[in-house]
Amino acid sequence: MAAPATSAPSAPPAPVAPGDLSEGGSRGPPDLPPEPKQLPELIRLKRDGGRLSDVDIRGFVRAVVDGSAHGAQIGAMLMAIRLRGMDLEETVALTRALATSGQQLEWPEAWRSQLVDKHSTGGVGDKVSLVLAPALAACGCKVPMISGRGLGHTGGTLDKLESIPGFTVIQSPEQMQGLLEQVGCCIVGQSKKLVPADGILYEARDVTATVDSLPLITASILSKKVVESLSALVVDVKFGGAAVFPSQAQAQELAEVLVGVGAGLGLRVAAALTAMNNPLGRSVGHSLEVEEALLCMDGAGPPDLRDLVTRLGGVLLWLSRQAETQDEGAARVAQTLDDGSARDRFERMLAGQGVDPGLARALCSGTPAQRRQLLPRAREQEELHAPADGTVELVQALPLARVLHELGAGRSRAGEPLRPGVGAEVLVSVGQRLRRGMPWLRVHLDAPALSAAQRRALQEALVLSDRAPFAAPSPFAELVLPPPRTMSTHTQQ
Ligand code: URA
Repeated sequence: MAAPATSAPSAPPAPVAPGDLSEGGSRGPPDLPPEPKQLPELIRLKRDGGRLSDVDIRGFVRAVVDGSAHGAQIGAMLMAIRLRGMDLEETVALTRALATSGQQLEWPEAWRSQLVDKHSTGGVGDKVSLVLAPALAACGCKVPMISGRGLGHTGGTLDKLESIPGFTVIQSPEQMQGLLEQVGCCIVGQSKKLVPADGILYEARDVTATVDSLPLITASILSKKVVESLSALVVDVKFGGAAVFPSQAQAQELAEVLVGVGAGLGLRVAAALTAMNNPLGRSVGHSLEVEEALLCMDGAGPPDLRDLVTRLGGVLLWLSRQAETQDEGAARVAQTLDDGSARDRFERMLAGQGVDPGLARALCSGTPAQRRQLLPRAREQEELHAPADGTVELVQALPLARVLHELGAGRSRAGEPLRPGVGAEVLVSVGQRLRRGMPWLRVHLDAPALSAAQRRALQEALVLSDRAPFAAPSPFAELVLPPPRTMSTHTQQ
């Protein structure tokens, strides 16, 4: 992976008021507006390592949205940005241009400090948003989450939710406001009204090998969040074998760019660095992940998932000044999982976003076995067995995700339908001692059986050692906080 050129946010531009999307940057004198450059000229400029001005970036984004840019030109510009990078000012300008490509969401003044959200750079088995949005709503927050679809080998929150029959991710701003009033949260997709430019670029990045670009990830994530007029945002920046950026140093750089660009746009952003080597939780695949999210909202489920949900929620409650400390915030989020109030909000969100209320009720009040009957299921199941005695060091998420992608859990082309029941249950925990022949993975598939190559790839994903059993470490590694001037009265923990 070539090093992205986005510089560290040593001197972010002066912050503007939250939601202020007025255009800053380098404009010509009012009586001599600069001639807009043609797309080939803009592409050449970036290809040769030059800087794009605010006007250039707005011109490119306008051409993307009005359809005058060819697919090839979009791909070429994305690749030029991927290879040459963007400095902080360019990234702020790109974020603002994407955000203003659609409608800005406006909420009642009384909600100002309650508006929070979380986003992830993409993981395997990452169903945190499904749990955290309703948990935060149960804590009194307003969570207008604009989420994404699967990108590369990583799963998408919207695709997971769409495995629930009837769930509708396209909601108008008026419908979103209604959901925030009645439920406290909604999880929606970008649309022709909401950040349309990100929708087009997101699909193009997926098929042009330009996902792993610091400025493109930053602008994609933050444009959706700037539009939401938030009080605070936490971004879960993954690192490790199955993350977009494997090295922690690169993830750290991305975290700092996200926080710096957020500050440049008046958005209070914290970034959590979390490990993505093993799948998060025990389930990977759309409907299996919905089941596991519900288990977490029963106050049960895998400890790593609960740990991440409560920590990220704690950061948000603290950052938005709704809790004195991160620990207090985390305890409040944990309480909503244990007392069923997060699950109650989830049920109301499902019903509010198109799921039949009877189905929403049955899903949320049912046992895990009953839930399985209500969600799409794959036709076959196949178990894999431990090839030797040993302690589980790692269940490598990347080969697992790649095989599931092949089996239909991911897209190879934009808009391709997914197989919602395809997935895998990891039957063992990191640190657990296994005996040869014990089942360790259950694959759910629509094909009659795994191919020999798929079985081999999956068996290689299980890494065993001779170590004594141990407790799996938390995936949470580090928190990058916004600069003090966007924190105002808070001291950093
Ligand atoms: N999530 C997004 O919305 N965009 C990205 O580029 C990565 C994760």
